[in-house]
Amino acid sequence: HNHVLNASVATVKEAVDQGHTHAAIPDYQSLDAYKNDGGYALLQECLDGGKDPEAVASEVEASGLRGLGGAGFKTGLKWKLVRKEAGPRVMAVNGDEGEPGTIKDYYYLVRKPHQFLEGMLIAAWVVEATDVYIYMRDEYPDVLDILRREMDALRDAGLSPHTTIHLRRGAGAYICGEESAMIESIEGKRGLPRHRPPFVAQVGIFGKPTLVNNVETLYWIPEILSRGADWFSGQGANGRTGLRSYSVSGRVKEPGVKLTPAGVTIRELIEEYCGGMLDGHEFKAYLPGGASGGILPASMDDIPLDFDTLQPHGCFIGSAAIVILSDKDSVADAALNLMKFFEDESCGQCTPCRVGTEKAVKLMQAEKWDKGLLQELSQTMMDASICGLGQAAPNPLLSVLKYFPDDVPS
Ligand code: SF4
Repeated sequence: HNHVLNASVATVKEAVDQGHTHAAIPDYQSLDAYKNDGGYALLQECLDGGKDPEAVASEVEASGLRGLGGAGFKTGLKWKLVRKEAGPRVMAVNGDEGEPGTIKDYYYLVRKPHQFLEGMLIAAWVVEATDVYIYMRDEYPDVLDILRREMDALRDAGLSPHTTIHLRRGAGAYICGEESAMIESIEGKRGLPRHRPPFVAQVGIFGKPTLVNNVETLYWIPEILSRGADWFSGQGANGRTGLRSYSVSGRVKEPGVKLTPAGVTIRELIEEYCGGMLDGHEFKAYLPGGASGGILPASMDDIPLDFDTLQPHGCFIGSAAIVILSDKDSVADAALNLMKFFEDESCGQCTPCRVGTEKAVKLMQAEKWDKGLLQELSQTMMDASICGLGQAAPNPLLSVLKYFPDDVPS
């Protein structure tokens, strides 16, 4: 099972890169093949009244599954909270997958779209969502084609009588992966994050209580419900629980999506799952959570990579996009590059982020970094930005100041 999932994403990406986008839909598990494998039996049982929605939410809660888009909120608990809100309720699937380095949702969607769709339809049944909005990034045209085709197949097969599925295309903005900005975008407006409270579980799409789940979170639902909560919670390494799909890129021999027990360390990931470092490269640093999760030195190679474990070090795992840097890379340059990314992607709504990212880039381009000023600016951005983009933007910069003093331009 792991072997298949660990196959490189290269083949599909190559097809996309070579321009075979709309023309070449990758081979994926069809509706018939999924059904022959026992797929949709669970959903059918739900629709036929054979399951209790509260019990299904409890089973998911017992599995320990947490939101795999990056925030890590407990999935079963979220379902229960949304269920408690007065109807009508709706649901949104976050398929924006914009965190640099992350490719896991794509990986599963082009292989087993129906496992995801069944998870989605079960979640919609649990919270009694009248409508489901799938927000899919437009950079995945093959996924959009697959979903269009398979949503029709589902309707024809009578498997989605309880809800109406809408497919919405993103337009390339990183900020639209932030759930409230995504909701604005679904409503047809500019993707500007909302102030909270109220939370989207209370006031979401068109003012209705909204369940927002990430693609991969939903992908695991059918497996958890058919194999049992204990199966999922029984996985894990170094004291952590569950499974984790790490998207690994950078200076390793075998980059790609690696399905492993949650909580492996970076050493284990590089050596046991990625074939080791590239020849001629010495492991120097790693980004544990894409652009926003900070940077850690190779000396800190024994931390279980999971939600909560990296916070004490000023980092987080988010959507588990791991980027490996070597002695051939400058971490200060990497941090500057990431700050430029945040400057470009800031929605501009609030000053600490809009102006802060711009100022930070200028300060980091100087021959000598003004460390005191950079610290102060970072603190202001973390304290006063409206959303996670501005709050997390200083993370790589702060990591460089903290862990790589020799790399700081001075
Ligand atoms: Fe927009 Fe940045 Fe403010 Fe978020 S923190 S609302 S991205 S300006």
